Amino acid sequence: MTAQQAGLRPLKIGLVGLGKIAVDQHIPAIRANPNWELVAGCSPSSRLPGLRCYQSMEAMLAEHPDIEAVALCTPPQVRQALAKQAIEAGKHVFLEKPPAATVGEADTIRELAEAHGVTLLAGWHSRFSPAVEPAREWIAQRTLSSLRIEWKENVREWHPGQHWIFAAGGSGIFDPAINSLSILTRLLPDTVIVRKADMHVPVNCAAPIRAELKMGTEAGLSIRAEYDFLETERQRWSIFAETADGEKLAVHKGGMMLEIDGKVVLDGVDAEYAGLYAHFHDLIRTRRSDADFAPMRIVADACMIGTFLPAPAFIE
Ligand code: NAP
Repeated sequence: MTAQQAGLRPLKIGLVGLGKIAVDQHIPAIRANPNWELVAGCSPSSRLPGLRCYQSMEAMLAEHPDIEAVALCTPPQVRQALAKQAIEAGKHVFLEKPPAATVGEADTIRELAEAHGVTLLAGWHSRFSPAVEPAREWIAQRTLSSLRIEWKENVREWHPGQHWIFAAGGSGIFDPAINSLSILTRLLPDTVIVRKADMHVPVNCAAPIRAELKMGTEAGLSIRAEYDFLETERQRWSIFAETADGEKLAVHKGGMMLEIDGKVVLDGVDAEYAGLYAHFHDLIRTRRSDADFAPMRIVADACMIGTFLPAPAFIE
């Protein structure tokens, strides 16, 4: 039953940051959900047809004080300041991933949301992919011996003109790689420990373009991850898991496809943001938050323990 059928009016939301993800995912997901009303958006220079647009969140909230929630779809470097402003104005907040530029910033956002009694959602979209929950159930009934992540894509295809990605706080390859870590931390019941990390940083960038991680759990699971932003031939977003008895599970297409012992058992459709907005609505109506920063902690640990190696300059 929708909130409207239950006699509740839709929640009013404003979008902050009108770039690729706002246009590709947030706007269609909000407009398709009768429990939400998209009131306005804001961005320093982008304007979208059919949406009342403002240059700043301050201007948007001043003009539309009835906005109850905001989704922060900006680059991570400016997220904490915007989240603080929104929470202090009493708004519920949906943080695009990663939740902030640092773990400390994310912690302060969570503390502030708790203090103001508003809902906070750290929006790990990949966790809403159709293969994730069945994979988690499969793993819960077994003991894994090894797990391998391959997350390799072409930055020029998926992030054209997004210079913030290779700036300090932009995470570089960890901008997509953190999606694999959001799935990993949902699949495994145990804490993931980073044991070794090689980070390849272009000589003209502040953030890595490739990375290889060795991780593990105290229970003895060995985890390896290969991340590459320069893959053009065989782009892939896959996780492979194996038990000591040789049973195999693979999640492909960023969480869309599930393979068990070499057979595709699920090949779903993209409904990540539909799931996120249903979840955000439910959290607000039940006065709860969902702010898990475990994927960020792994990236931060990789930076603490990692070896930084020079890579050729990145010219888009
Ligand atoms: P993007 O295309 O570069 O868009 C970011 C937008 O934020 C731009 O429109 C920019 O403004 C706006 N912005 C910057 N500072 C702002 C501020 N202070 N207030 C309001 N708006 C501001 O980047 P994106 O791909 O949409 O990514 C945004 C976030 O979503 C990132 O954290 C990314 O990791 C995450 N995400 C991206 C994808 C994807 O496939 N692209 C998928 C999932 C999640 P102007 O355009 O007006 O200059």
